[in-house]
Amino acid sequence: MQKTVLIVEDETRIAQWVKTYFERAGFYAEVCADGRSGLQTARQLAPDIIVLDLMLPGMSGEAVCEALRRESDVPIIMLTAKGAHHDRITGLESGADDYMVKPFNPEELVARANAILRRVKGKVQNSLQCGPVSLDLGARVATLSGAPIALSVAQITLLETFMRHPNQVLTRNQLIEMAFEGNFDAFDRAIDSHIRRLRKVLHIENHEPIQTVYGAGYKYVVTDLNL
Ligand code: CA
Repeated sequence: MQKTVLIVEDETRIAQWVKTYFERAGFYAEVCADGRSGLQTARQLAPDIIVLDLMLPGMSGEAVCEALRRESDVPIIMLTAKGAHHDRITGLESGADDYMVKPFNPEELVARANAILRRVKGKVQNSLQCGPVSLDLGARVATLSGAPIALSVAQITLLETFMRHPNQVLTRNQLIEMAFEGNFDAFDRAIDSHIRRLRKVLHIENHEPIQTVYGAGYKYVVTDLNL
């Protein structure tokens, strides 16, 4: 089934550019240039996912996001200005599922949209699957080729975060923010040992799913996404 994306962005060049990339990826895409029409279109179109600029004329992206959250759980990716840390926080606090900082790579935006859509599907299924690794989100049990893996609660949460963002570079801060909503100070120091543990249990033959991207963070590499 063709997925629908609504792009709410007042900069025509960016909006068209994003639209083109989504269309290439097989989406049906619609563009709105201001917050109010974005909100109206979201209600009428019921898109699978929304790309929402934070800085919009009239009604801000933040207000649109908050209004949408009161009536739907449609996934929202917020576009924020470069370097504006508070914009990112604002975006996430207003209910966005993810954010991208301008200037961004449109291919990465589409990849993240697809990852979120898989996550939504995963919620319905109540499990995540990446290659041979499966995670039961209800029972909080991970298995590798059907065999249960012994992991702590924090490690399961970390694994879930990796599985929800396959093939995406995640910084330590992003991991902590996404897995523990940023309020897990002790985890910052423990993260390396948790990742070592995950690496040890997930390692199969020559395949190392959790890779270090030097100077950037970690990436959970999945070659066969059975989603
Ligand atoms: Ca804007």
